[in-house]
Amino acid sequence: MERVDTVLSGGYVVTLDEFNRVIPRGAVAIRDGVIVDVGVEDDIRGRYVGEEVVERRHHVIVPGLIDCHTHTQQYLLRSAINDAMLQLPPVWTKVLVPFERVMGEDLARLSTQASILNMLRNGVTYFIEAGAPYPETLAQEVLRSGIRGVVTYATYDVAEGKVAEPGDVVRKVEELYRSYSGRGGNLRVWMSIRQVMMVTEELMEAVIEMGRKYGVGLTLHLGEYQGEVDYTLAKHGRRPLEYLVERGLRHVKPVVIAHGVFFSPSEIELLRRYGMGVCWCPTVDSWLMGPHWAGFTGIEGLRIGLGSDGGAWGRLDILHEAKVAKALGKAVANAISYFKAGLDSNALLGMATGSRGLMTGEKVGRVEKGYAADLTILDARTVKTLPLNNPVDSVVNYLEGDNVTDVVIGGRLVVRNGRISSMDEEGVVRELLEREGEVKEKLRELTKQLKVLSA
Ligand SMILES: [Zn+2]
Repeated sequence: MERVDTVLSGGYVVTLDEFNRVIPRGAVAIRDGVIVDVGVEDDIRGRYVGEEVVERRHHVIVPGLIDCHTHTQQYLLRSAINDAMLQLPPVWTKVLVPFERVMGEDLARLSTQASILNMLRNGVTYFIEAGAPYPETLAQEVLRSGIRGVVTYATYDVAEGKVAEPGDVVRKVEELYRSYSGRGGNLRVWMSIRQVMMVTEELMEAVIEMGRKYGVGLTLHLGEYQGEVDYTLAKHGRRPLEYLVERGLRHVKPVVIAHGVFFSPSEIELLRRYGMGVCWCPTVDSWLMGPHWAGFTGIEGLRIGLGSDGGAWGRLDILHEAKVAKALGKAVANAISYFKAGLDSNALLGMATGSRGLMTGEKVGRVEKGYAADLTILDARTVKTLPLNNPVDSVVNYLEGDNVTDVVIGGRLVVRNGRISSMDEEGVVRELLEREGEVKEKLRELTKQLKVLSA
């Protein structure tokens, strides 16, 4: 008998391995934060003695969910962007970025804590931050909470026609990298570019170079706006991704592109060639851009993940996003070619784990020997979810964040039976209530200047 830290058993284990194995009465053996074995419970219990044994008889165990694109410090904008404001061209430079500026460190911390609590409750074990105005605050909260997270600084030097000193931004990014990289197993520091229209060429090239020099990933918003395609075509004679690849993006690994809705076939080919990931944000992409090609074109060989785009828009619930993605993708496929069989549940669950972890460049996103022990456990014994004829279809079609009971990250039960031990959830709710007036005041100031009225 081999000793391990934890033996975790469930009604079903959905592995997302290369055979898409689903193991009824399955179990996982975990040691030092890594999966050492997965199989039928009787076999696993016959071979391993766990320091701790966790039994979840009526539950489905899936690989930890990954939110490939979020803004942890935009949470306080929930329900603040009304439909009239959605029309502002583009809404992020009019509302989201200005709000980040006026928020202050104190509210940024509250926003971060609320975001992380939501993610953990929804079974998200790993997230990629698009660029926080207060990245140190985010890094501290990642370390404290136990979630696995990519922290980046809101990297731009052009906003509303004003240009900042690129050197100052570069120094800020370097400082973040030096202070926080390698501080803990769950925290990563990556590079980011806010938007190709929000950076000077000097800053863009410096950030790409840092990503290459430090061997870390880079995330950016791209292909999210038709004006942006016109902008790079007019300025550089290239479409956005063609231009960036030429300027060195192809040398950075991994690259995670948020949205990418307005990519041409040749840009999609670049994604395939350089193994770059695209994060489809089904709710936000639909609200602001349109149907995403990832929902109805051949995605063989591409790395496609799902993202929330932050708490300003939705529930930070990746399983909910998977449902939106499925409906939307099938609607367009039906409209174009009367094709109903695409975007199957295994593909969608793969997207919900960042195309089985590949987008992160790490061994996450599968329940398999040698992979990080990041697991999301969902209670399927509810009147809304039974009977469980097919566990993968059940997870994608019926189960959501509200069904998550336990979350394991690096072998540690960060959420246990619905309780988060690493954070003061009641305290955060209290502070959200207490500071509601303050947030509303900041929003009032901001929206006063907008031409489109906030109803
Ligand atoms: Zn975004």
